[in-house]
Amino acid sequence: MTIPAETFSKRWESALQYNYGRPELTLISGKGLKITDSEGNTYLDFLGGIATNVLGHAHPAIVKAVSEQISTLGHVSNFFSHPGVLALAEKLQELTGDSSARVFFCNSGAEANEAALKLSRKTGRERIVATQGAFHGRTMGALSLTGQPSKRDPFKPLLPGIVHLPFDDLEAMRKKVTRKTAMVIIEPILGEAGVIMPSPGYLSGIRAICNATGALMVVDAVQTGMGRTGQWFGYEHEGIVPDVVTLAKGLGGGLPLGAMIALGGTSHLFQPGDHGTTFGGNPVACASALAAIDVLERKSLLKQARDHEFTIKSSLSQLPGVKEVRGMGLLLGIVLEKEVAPEMKNALQSAGVLVNAPTPHVIRIAPALIVSTAEVKKFISIFSKVLAVHG
Ligand SMILES: *Cc1c(COP(=O)(O)O)cnc(C)c1O
Repeated sequence: MTIPAETFSKRWESALQYNYGRPELTLISGKGLKITDSEGNTYLDFLGGIATNVLGHAHPAIVKAVSEQISTLGHVSNFFSHPGVLALAEKLQELTGDSSARVFFCNSGAEANEAALKLSRKTGRERIVATQGAFHGRTMGALSLTGQPSKRDPFKPLLPGIVHLPFDDLEAMRKKVTRKTAMVIIEPILGEAGVIMPSPGYLSGIRAICNATGALMVVDAVQTGMGRTGQWFGYEHEGIVPDVVTLAKGLGGGLPLGAMIALGGTSHLFQPGDHGTTFGGNPVACASALAAIDVLERKSLLKQARDHEFTIKSSLSQLPGVKEVRGMGLLLGIVLEKEVAPEMKNALQSAGVLVNAPTPHVIRIAPALIVSTAEVKKFISIFSKVLAVHG
């Protein structure tokens, strides 16, 4: 049975708040990269719930892990331990390569960054350095870190003591980060700002500045983490180890799960009573995350993400109307010559492909890491046709 999209959008408007735009599509079911809407149209999902569905929709491994867990033990709170939270924390510790790393689980990216913010206060310092254009979440603390005036301005006053420096400007960091700085927070690739890569040496330069001043280096890997860039956390290509890593989006394999991982000397900063959240480390979310990581590893999907990156970059960057394709792995920004990204997004949707347009020039893609070569080729073919008309 198909139901006109209009029916759903009227219901949306009369029951949900106005903080999001009114969605045009109502999605009913999905399998892998394919998704079906209420009118029976199918789409190739190249947005992946915004870099979240690392294994696509209804992946058998996630379905099995989640079904088994919810029928065994659904929720316990942090007064109690359970096998899933232990296994996932140990796995994340292993992936960071630091056995002294300690994990705090929460439910979203904003909460992971809130936790990092509180952790930094335990250094006894207050000042924070963040970057312009960066996105770190919408709660008051995370919003204070976010470097986008349009999102911040209506909610001032925000937290004091935070400066936003131009992204990719090491000289500015050298001037502003001092022995009074509690933390520097940085996205390895600016995701929401349009998939902007810093120059080589930027992350390692920040690492050196933090080493010299004792400021914590916090990497917000909420969007770049979980294999998205072809590495686990999006900073490994610079050969650095941050003091804190925050994760969410892809971590839960489609379920809400965030984490703040404190490495090395920062791992003992939180003491009993300092922080907490009821749902953090929920057994079902942890089971889903473990299943996702297991598939990513067994199927070598991180390496495959780099191969797909190569294919997409080499075919799309040739096209007239495309300025460049930037990003890493399967977090890519297709930069258009003209400001037609919103129009292109709509045209792609009509042609059966879901993407988004974070800025007027940029189409962002973040498909599930299980995307096949045939699906990548199909995307390239549809994109090229749509671009020929709208680019
Ligand atoms: C999405 C995002 C967040 C916020 O995550 P929520 O789960 O929406 O709170 C924070 N940082 C980055 C880099 C993100 O992409």
